Amino acid sequence: MEDTIAAVATAYGEGGIGIIRISGNKAFDILKDIFEPGGEFAEIVSRRMTYGKIVDKDNNEIIDEVLAVYMKGPKTYTAEDVAEINCHGSIVALRKTLGLALRKGARMAEPGEFTKRAFLNGRLDLSQAEAVIDIVKAKTDKSFDVAISQLEGGLSLKIMEIRQKLLDVLVDITVNIDYPDEDIEELTYEKLEENILLIGEMIEKLLSTASTGRMIREGIRIAIVGKPNVGKSSLMNSLLKEIRAIVTEIPGTTRDTIEETLSIRNIPVYLVDTAGIRDTSDKVELLGIEKSKEAFNNADFIIFITDGSRPISSEDKEIGKYLKEKKSLILINKSDLGRVFDDDEIREIAGNHDIIETSLLNGKGIEDIEEFIENMVYGGHLSQKDSMMVNNVRHIELLRKSRGSLEDALKMIASKEALDFIEIDVKNTYEYLGEIIGETVSDDIIDEVFARFCLGK
Ligand code: GDP
Ligand code: ZN
Repeated sequence: MEDTIAAVATAYGEGGIGIIRISGNKAFDILKDIFEPGGEFAEIVSRRMTYGKIVDKDNNEIIDEVLAVYMKGPKTYTAEDVAEINCHGSIVALRKTLGLALRKGARMAEPGEFTKRAFLNGRLDLSQAEAVIDIVKAKTDKSFDVAISQLEGGLSLKIMEIRQKLLDVLVDITVNIDYPDEDIEELTYEKLEENILLIGEMIEKLLSTASTGRMIREGIRIAIVGKPNVGKSSLMNSLLKEIRAIVTEIPGTTRDTIEETLSIRNIPVYLVDTAGIRDTSDKVELLGIEKSKEAFNNADFIIFITDGSRPISSEDKEIGKYLKEKKSLILINKSDLGRVFDDDEIREIAGNHDIIETSLLNGKGIEDIEEFIENMVYGGHLSQKDSMMVNNVRHIELLRKSRGSLEDALKMIASKEALDFIEIDVKNTYEYLGEIIGETVSDDIIDEVFARFCLGK
């Protein structure tokens, strides 16, 4: 990490300001080379924002009027010397200033390289660095909270605690293998089993947050299905709380699928209004139906809407067939117009799903639907208050592998195998957990993690 890197750290486009960030040994020299302080405090002092101009000294061209700051490492984002230049938020000013910094000896940063340096310099562990991506990409308050908790080291602490317990077990095993005749406390299989079960419980506890964590981080895909005119667009609009999809009296008007991103009780939701999955010969509608089937297959969860004021029809039955295997919620809509079939009748055709009676025209039932979604995501054992959740596929995978290794160890304990064999599984568990925080992790995994970052982060 001898070289000094630079990049535009803010989003491209017009804005009040745009920031160039420079990190590395030469950050200060480069800043001095391109920045002329002016006004009352015309001196560059570490950690003092200074007014001045960016000047290309080769041809005396003034590029922009800026505020610049130099921060001496190691207490900086990257743990290196860092300079930041607040330019006007114009692509031209940013591009020219960055170009000048590059000419004066900086190298263009790769995506995520600033954060990668923070990790390689030991300021953040890997799971904390990953939290930075999540913070940037968070779509709801909740996913933001979870990411902040991870950045603060919430997950890291748990992992370190478990690893410490594993280390204790490893020491017990090693001592018993190496000095079996010495005067030390004998490690019985019972004791070993007890310790490993305890560690297994801690891992299990983390894993129990994974499903909620993932849904909060990545969102859930909900497909709305139902024959024409039952209220699909109305549901979509009620959830969006504004008119978006076109609501009409004519059946079959939602020709295409309409996808919306929204936040329901702080859960990111991708909602797809489908044209229905019924048979048709209309070409335009056929296209819509193909898309609906795709949306249906990709959905985590289906909302099936029926018109409770009319008898169940063959179209309802046709759609119902697809629902038996899917996680679904059934809405019996238009309750203001009366109800001509009961819960059992609709369950007979669509499966044994939960049912909510709605009158979407008046927004009746919307709260219940939102509550249903919230309960589904939190699964009853977590609440909106919990911010410590495992939410990253890489972490979940490693926790599962850890669990697997411990199960292997337990099997060997049960059949009283030699301690050396058990030691291998405990060691593997220790290393899998180390990968989460980046202690025992290969370079390609590190590269893969940081490749997901955006430029300038
Ligand atoms: P879609 O074809 O399934 O998308 O259905 P729409 O949402 O376009 O609704 C079709 C028609 O039914 C519109 O005229 C809506 O105003 C009406 N509608 C929707 N929900 C209700 C309801 O709960 N009660 C009544 N009376 N009409 C409704
Ligand atoms: Zn519609």
